Amino acid sequence: MRTLVMKFGGTSVGSSTAIQQTASIIQKQKTIWSNLVVVVSAMSGITDKLIQSARYAANNNGPAANQIIEQIQQQHLEVINALISDPTQRLELLSVVQKRLDELSSYCQSIQVLGEATPRGMDVISSLGERINAQIVAAMLRSIRTPAQAVEASECIITDRTFQNAVPDMTLSREKIQSTLTPLFQHNLVPVVTGFMAATPEGVITTLGRGGSDYTAAILADCLDADEVWIWTDVDGVLSADPRVVPDARPIPEISFAEVGELAYFGAKVLHPKTIRPVVSRNMPLWVKNTFNPDFPGTRITQNPSRSRGDITAISMIKDLSILTVEGRGMLGVPGIAARTFGAVARTGASVLMISQSSSEQSICFTIPSIHNGEVLKSIESEMALELLRGDIDRVWARDQVVIVSIIGSGMRETPGVSARIFGALGKNLINVIAIAQGSSEYSISLVLDQDDAIRAVQAIHAEIAPQPNGGQNGL
Ligand code: ADP
Ligand code: ASP
Ligand code: MG
Repeated sequence: MRTLVMKFGGTSVGSSTAIQQTASIIQKQKTIWSNLVVVVSAMSGITDKLIQSARYAANNNGPAANQIIEQIQQQHLEVINALISDPTQRLELLSVVQKRLDELSSYCQSIQVLGEATPRGMDVISSLGERINAQIVAAMLRSIRTPAQAVEASECIITDRTFQNAVPDMTLSREKIQSTLTPLFQHNLVPVVTGFMAATPEGVITTLGRGGSDYTAAILADCLDADEVWIWTDVDGVLSADPRVVPDARPIPEISFAEVGELAYFGAKVLHPKTIRPVVSRNMPLWVKNTFNPDFPGTRITQNPSRSRGDITAISMIKDLSILTVEGRGMLGVPGIAARTFGAVARTGASVLMISQSSSEQSICFTIPSIHNGEVLKSIESEMALELLRGDIDRVWARDQVVIVSIIGSGMRETPGVSARIFGALGKNLINVIAIAQGSSEYSISLVLDQDDAIRAVQAIHAEIAPQPNGGQNGL
């Protein structure tokens, strides 16, 4: 029994033509794999709109919330009318979808009365796009004689109560996933599972974090002991850089779990950073493929890709960051300053993306998302109040509008000269580097740069380290 889990992202299920294309991919794979599971995202843009409707309601702007709900309704109705020609099936589907939209309206009304949208409430609302779309894709498949059934992942993926970023309990989920999906396989049905959404053991809806449908696919694959996971998106696989920044970014034929993990962590939207967790230990092949170019093989993510001329694999960038510096001569040789600094950051819930400390120990600097700036500064200042008073710490300050550019590649390991080329490219373009960090794994070098220089920097590094057209397969 060979099992394949395929996930289709927002653009792959974002219009009637895209859904038709997705359905034909599913139909073809159904003839090849004995057990096929499909995971779907909401239509592109819908999750943002759902969240916006709740925000308007929380701000007591009922008309704006209703306007968005109408747009959501319109977008879905158009797709259903274009896809499902059988009147009975269409009416059935329309009534299921309308029920969800009515729920959305009443949630928004309650939020307006309460004056706030709680993280728990936001999960109920933001998962509605997946719940509607699973119904549409399943109906589409049935209409082309591929028996399918929509499945709400709240029935089978069990998480803790960290709303908006829930952590799955893999033992409970394994049991539930197998008991929910196995009967469907036995009836030759393709389960069309809602991405992104899950539930607590008590059945309260949770979500796995933005972009979390990739993670849903990996969780299902792990719990079903699947053979492969395919992530279908709107580009030819994992590319050497964000194609919106570097238009000639190239698809990477093969990339390691470790490299793609760094890439996702450092901002490449193509894969949710947690996706590799469930599959890496089993070395389960994970592919990223293009729904709109299905014959192109895409990117294979594996443990140890062969590197013919190993150097750099990809570049990524995270924007809207601040770099915070704690500095003072009195820090020299004093134990515990770093621990206390990061303890103070942790108490705010902000995550630190990169750290660097000068060897003279006179400053520690680290990078966080700018939205946490104010509270983090306050928290460190109160933790270090005594040191600031005594002058052991001169100041704690933030520089806003910075980015992290990460250069990733397992081939950089033990290869001298890579950083010289990176810094050479930046120097030639008169781009200043604010801070640098390299992990001891040598999979990535991260640079903090001014946001205004970011795009030029990524383009310059990409151009500099791209191999000649006849160069190695895995270099940029
Ligand atoms: P989906 O809705 O299919 O999950 P996403 O929008 O979440 O798609 O992710 C795919 C997008 O990620 C691509 O359209 C591309 O613009 C962007 N992207 C950023 N960096 C990369 C990269 N290194 N490789 C591929 N895509 C990238
Ligand atoms: N629809 C969700 C989001 O936009 C999940 C996903 O697309 O992966 O974040
Ligand atoms: Mg995505």
